[in-house]
Amino acid sequence: MKNQFKPGTLCVQAGWQPKKGEPRVLPVYQSTTFKYDTSEQMARLFDLEDSGYFYTRLQNPTNDAVAAKITALEGGLAGMLTSSGQAANFYALFNICESGDHFVAQTSIYGGTYNLFAVTMKKLGIECTFIDQDASEEEIGKAFRPNTKALFGETLSNPGVAVLDIEKFARIAHKHGVPLIVDNTFPTPINCRPFEWGADIVTHSTTKYMDGHATAVGGCIVDSGNFNWDTYADKYPGLCTPDESYHGLTYSKAFGKGAYITKATAQLMRDLGSIQAPENAFLLNIGLETLHLRMPQHCKNALAVAEWLENNEKVAWVNYPGLKSNKYHELAQKYMPGGTCGVLCFGLKGGREESIRFMDSLKLVAIVTHVADARSCVLHPASHTHRQLSNEQLLEAGINPDLIRFSTGIENAEDIIADIAQALGE
Ligand SMILES: *Cc1c(COP(=O)(O)O)cnc(C)c1O
Repeated sequence: MKNQFKPGTLCVQAGWQPKKGEPRVLPVYQSTTFKYDTSEQMARLFDLEDSGYFYTRLQNPTNDAVAAKITALEGGLAGMLTSSGQAANFYALFNICESGDHFVAQTSIYGGTYNLFAVTMKKLGIECTFIDQDASEEEIGKAFRPNTKALFGETLSNPGVAVLDIEKFARIAHKHGVPLIVDNTFPTPINCRPFEWGADIVTHSTTKYMDGHATAVGGCIVDSGNFNWDTYADKYPGLCTPDESYHGLTYSKAFGKGAYITKATAQLMRDLGSIQAPENAFLLNIGLETLHLRMPQHCKNALAVAEWLENNEKVAWVNYPGLKSNKYHELAQKYMPGGTCGVLCFGLKGGREESIRFMDSLKLVAIVTHVADARSCVLHPASHTHRQLSNEQLLEAGINPDLIRFSTGIENAEDIIADIAQALGE
């Protein structure tokens, strides 16, 4: 669907345009396979000479329609769904990095992504150097090496809600001839479109606001099509030299700007198979239809909660970029003028133990390993999601041991605040 439409229209209508007599609502193509009339037709698909569906591990019409909607929302060229946000970030990097390669990433990122980069990808021979996203361009530039293939950041970090200076990161990446990959899970394209600020590839955990109802785990990768791989052909042989597993086809020659997503689909999905179930893509699509309505409500409620907490004497500190007092307020105003997201962090004067007592006393707000859905929820990263990190790694990732991650839902703000107040013993 044309990007002349505003995000709200794209949320509702992009991706699936039924023809005469077809279902109005995007159907679940619950089929592993697709029929052809001749052996020759099928052979051409396997050689990537024709495009078409043949096996759901590679492509499925339901998934493609939803990927097209997210691509339209981000203003990108091509996109693909993955089974999870973890798979999206892994594929986004593994598509251009191989054993012996290196990339640079912001330290204060989601704990699962940190582990993926610091431990699992290292085992595959791909090394990551972590940097402070607030350091100067010169300082960050020092992390780059001749074998560096990408720069990675989170537009809003989970759980620290640090706002990324996307333009600065894009300058650093492009100066070193590598793409900028950003995980845009928390703001969603409703609040921030990183391609407009120079990012080249965007990833998502669609499990969060996009699904929005905590029904389906999923991920997405969107390519802007702006990074010119052929300019750095020596650096990206996977895209710019023949792929023997496709009879010597070269992605950048055969697919031009579509090379990156085509390779990720034709090669990584074929070999690693982290597809999103079409049923999950169907649920994700229903979630996306109201994303533009839910995000402003999340932001409005989160700001009300943050302001209330900031004025409460039992609260030691509050971190929400929407607060004027926040370190990232100015950057948030620039990159996310409509609001950041519903997630905020705070600590209580009683420290770690008081934080746990407070969480156990909440009634409406639940303790769950989740974030960014319609229901308000809370988590203590040091004891839960990030418990594999040492205290030192926690602080490096921007997480105080007393940090409570509060994910503000779309309930009535007064009810959410009343629950917090009673749990604080007021
Ligand atoms: C949750 C999350 C992920 C991982 O996504 P899953 O869908 O849980 O695999 C990656 N990045 C960010 C910013 C997240 O919040």
